Amino acid sequence: MSTKSRMDGKVAIVTGGASGIGEAAARLLASRGAVVFIADIQDELGEAVAASVGGACRYIRCDVTDEAQVEETVAAAVAAHGRLDVMLSNAGVLLPTGPVTDMDLAALDRVMSVNFRGAAACVKHAARAMVGSTRGAIVCTASVASCQGGFGPASYTASKHAVVGLVRAAAGELGRHGVRVNCVSPGGVATPLSCGLTGMSPEEMEAATEPHSVLRGKVLKASDVAEAMVFLASDEAAYVSGHNLVVDGAITAVNYAVLQSMGL
Ligand code: NAD
Repeated sequence: MSTKSRMDGKVAIVTGGASGIGEAAARLLASRGAVVFIADIQDELGEAVAASVGGACRYIRCDVTDEAQVEETVAAAVAAHGRLDVMLSNAGVLLPTGPVTDMDLAALDRVMSVNFRGAAACVKHAARAMVGSTRGAIVCTASVASCQGGFGPASYTASKHAVVGLVRAAAGELGRHGVRVNCVSPGGVATPLSCGLTGMSPEEMEAATEPHSVLRGKVLKASDVAEAMVFLASDEAAYVSGHNLVVDGAITAVNYAVLQSMGL
């Protein structure tokens, strides 16, 4: 089977699909033949991305912090196509909640409500639609901040650790129904989320990141992360469940400071 056909006919929802990694994943899914619903809160951008993807791609306003909107989005996909095959729970925020000694707990609540509670709503309602059809793949976007501290504020780090816990628990419960649940953990990608926090342009961010990466000669792009997400969503990953696929050029696999101090 050619890789081009591997998502043919699958019905997919991508939350946070109007921008960055979600947009890249939505475009890749559509290019591989999937019917894609872009679910986001940036209406103009989401409509424009859906129009530029073309075909059966649709934009639906869906604030993942509102469970009813998540339920309605899943219901809309099922009503239109009779089933849901893929849920990419990708919407996320990174807010400057400050050092732990001065943590802004209201901002922490916001981060948790989008990154963790939003993902929980997506897993819940996607699973309800998938159970009974003995098929379905849920992929959540976590982060290298799900593996280690130091990649972002404590609020973001905790929210992404929680996503991995959610994925593992859901994979355990849903396995008997044939539903797979995984997550992808990207390293730094120049998107509005990461550039917004640092105040850098995408070019400045990529230039600043490259010298500290383990894997040289390659800058991580949203499209690289999208490839990993679509793999996890595809039939090629038919026996992969409960996995956290890091897409980070080995940054969480090695101790970079020790590597440098040893001159390696
Ligand atoms: P982005 O800002 O380009 O995209 C995030 C999207 O999520 C936006 O379109 C935004 O409107 C949407 N969104 C935010 N709150 C929402 C809500 N309540 N309901 C629905 N949609 C909402 O950022 P990105 O970098 O593409 O982020 C996508 C995911 O990747 C996030 O979960 C993020 O934590 C994760 N991630 C990003 C990086 C990185 O370096 N960019 C690294 C690791 C993980």
